[in-house]
Amino acid sequence: MKIETVAVHAGREIDPATGAIVPPIQMSTTYQRDADGGYSRSFSYTRPDNPTRHALETCIAQLEGGTEAVCFSSGAAATMAVFSLLNPGDHVLAPQECYYGTRQLLRDYLSRSGVRAEFIDMSDPAQLEARLKPETRLIWIETPCNPTLKLTDLKVAARCAHSVGALLVCDNTFPTPVLQQPLAAGADAVVHSSTKYFGGHSDVMGGAVIVNDAARATAVRAYQAVGGAVPSPFDCWLIRRSLATLPLRIRTQSASALEVAKFLHGHSRVERVCYPGLTDDPGHALALRQMTGFGAMVSVCVRGDARAAMAVAARTRVFTCATSLGGVESLVEHRASVEGPDTLTPQNLLRLSIGLENPQDLIEDLDQALKG
Ligand code: PLP
Repeated sequence: MKIETVAVHAGREIDPATGAIVPPIQMSTTYQRDADGGYSRSFSYTRPDNPTRHALETCIAQLEGGTEAVCFSSGAAATMAVFSLLNPGDHVLAPQECYYGTRQLLRDYLSRSGVRAEFIDMSDPAQLEARLKPETRLIWIETPCNPTLKLTDLKVAARCAHSVGALLVCDNTFPTPVLQQPLAAGADAVVHSSTKYFGGHSDVMGGAVIVNDAARATAVRAYQAVGGAVPSPFDCWLIRRSLATLPLRIRTQSASALEVAKFLHGHSRVERVCYPGLTDDPGHALALRQMTGFGAMVSVCVRGDARAAMAVAARTRVFTCATSLGGVESLVEHRASVEGPDTLTPQNLLRLSIGLENPQDLIEDLDQALKG
């Protein structure tokens, strides 16, 4: 079935007790045991499994083309679940430019367990190949990456990972499975911050790991059950509800992002626009090969310094100056000041999350904010 049909139907069954077409939220934390001590109805306790979470996991697995999805209480918790597969002495290749929380986890926490992470320019296949080691066990990529929207070649990264027996894991939060399918391109696992486009309305947190291998699924699921960073049934229900409109939302937001990026590209107060949909963007040719749309995130370097960029953000009226992304409302954020003193993000960069407003209103808003 096509992705729009999966988004509406996967994991959604008519409630056998009532005929309700919207599945109920199953809040019970515990389930009755059989006389022989078993659990013939599959559920025992909500931390290891819950019917509402199960429905969400079924849908996400099918959207990403995986055999199993394992859901967590946030994208960061899903990322940690992947890192739980590592052992002391393992080497990880990760992007210099990616969600800064992922870099922090590797640098400040995984290092304590003897995992050594190296941060490289993942948009450069030669660098990736050169930095591989026999003990490399994981290549982590984010494409397009947060916030500079550089692309990594999925097929090249998969080939590199598999040449040394490592896993390729792709954070697919920005494009979503509607615009990019990493498992089909050779990745071994996909990670999502469901807080973003999956939830889509800036009102629920979540994360997911999607795999296509039974042993890996068992390992991630065991970590979910024991580690306990599980989403509440209500949060699962909200995300499952939002997934029905994911293809419509991301395609519309992506089309608007292209219009906004084209407008900014020619603006006299703009130094540079990062958006893989622009024909002169370094990632454009690769985006045409591995994506079916360019995504709804646009980064813009304004002329001037951090103060000039923040002043532009503060003058917007339709955009809201706030962190996060992927909601129906457009957001603008000065990333460098959020990421802290060791940030690699240019000080004059503003990250735009394009929502579902009319793109002309967004363009007019940016124009007045840039002109001051
Ligand atoms: N991955 C990406 C690309 C993100 O942008 C974020 C958060 O902004 C995360 C992961 C972490 O997700 P969460 O905030 O749901 O923990």
